[in-house]
Amino acid sequence: MNDVLEQVETLTREALPELVALRHDLHAHPQLGYEETYASALVQRELKAMGVAFESGLAETGVVGWITPDGEAGRRDAIGLRADMDALPIEEQTGLPYASQHPGRMHACGHDGHTTVLLGAARVLQQVRRALPRPVKLVFQPAEEGGGGADRLVKAGVLTDKVGRHHVACMFGLHGWPRLPLGQVATRVGPLLAATDNVFITLSGPGGHAAFPHVTADPVVCAAQLVTALQAVVSRMVSPTRPAVLSITTVHGGDAENVIPDRVALSGTVRTTDGDTRRTVIERADHTAKQVAAAHGCGVEFRLEMGYPVTQNDAAYTRRVMRMAEGLLGEGRAVELPEPVMGGEDFSYYGRHVPACFVFLGMRPAGKGTAADLHTPAFDFNDDAIGAGVELMCRAALDGDAHG
Ligand SMILES: [Zn+2]
Ligand SMILES: [Zn+2]
Repeated sequence: MNDVLEQVETLTREALPELVALRHDLHAHPQLGYEETYASALVQRELKAMGVAFESGLAETGVVGWITPDGEAGRRDAIGLRADMDALPIEEQTGLPYASQHPGRMHACGHDGHTTVLLGAARVLQQVRRALPRPVKLVFQPAEEGGGGADRLVKAGVLTDKVGRHHVACMFGLHGWPRLPLGQVATRVGPLLAATDNVFITLSGPGGHAAFPHVTADPVVCAAQLVTALQAVVSRMVSPTRPAVLSITTVHGGDAENVIPDRVALSGTVRTTDGDTRRTVIERADHTAKQVAAAHGCGVEFRLEMGYPVTQNDAAYTRRVMRMAEGLLGEGRAVELPEPVMGGEDFSYYGRHVPACFVFLGMRPAGKGTAADLHTPAFDFNDDAIGAGVELMCRAALDGDAHG
């Protein structure tokens, strides 16, 4: 085994200059979810050059490759390695030579880095495929940022032999994490990231002259009361030991100083890390909206948009991954997070069907107190994290005792 890991290290080091160039190419050509034709074509071109079999056009732009070892190992269920390819509607302000060439589009979540890491792993694993204990499925998915690309791929059969020839026994994925130092990995057993649901509330009632409020229902005053009342959902209706967020983030109503509008629209997001709390927050928010509206004589419409499920890390598999990461990065460099992060990830859809593990890959340069955060115009994936990402994915694939 050690021989193979040394080989992985050497092959990764040799591949790095080309991988960095690929990452910059991807970074310069960001596209939104389900429109990632550039990344999709680049991935297909690279897999073809490596001699890795693949299927394309899955959930629009998705690509799934597979590497099958000879003999008995090739008949086992596969490990799935996942990368996402989409960018965000943000105007880049990094000033980098390889900055986005597409106005209003930017790889501000580092998915260019994830795609590069998985291409690097594909390249190395293809060269050491004789040592693979099971097949590897390389999942390049579209539309993580709100489009639910993972959900569509799962529905298309990506975890079965309908896509990419092999059934999947377990899934592994990573996300570059600017708050974590380079050379570290962080994750946790159980919920790692939150469920992300959106709520849309419309209050309506007769508007009118601002000087005659008594003949209106004034949805503005009702909205003000409701925003405040909703704060009691998390603070008074959910156990203080359960993580939950309910943020009202948009308020729209009215056009003139002297007119009471007949409608105010609110929207916001709900983040929770278990099903009971998720149900409680949504039910109580709905109830509060109806009761506050009734008290003001307003009509109300409460609409829920269910988002991604909780990203659950399988206990046994995650402990294996932590040991594996420590073996690669050194003692104390695989950090167990004490609590979940309230962001969301559509990697969660894979974990609903097979044991899954998602980890954060450190990207903060040594000596720097902070690095630009995800989803900001100054963010850039740190190229110095590519090598560790590739080796981690390779080690996950070479781990013979994982599930199945
Ligand atoms: Zn993101
Ligand atoms: Zn992301």
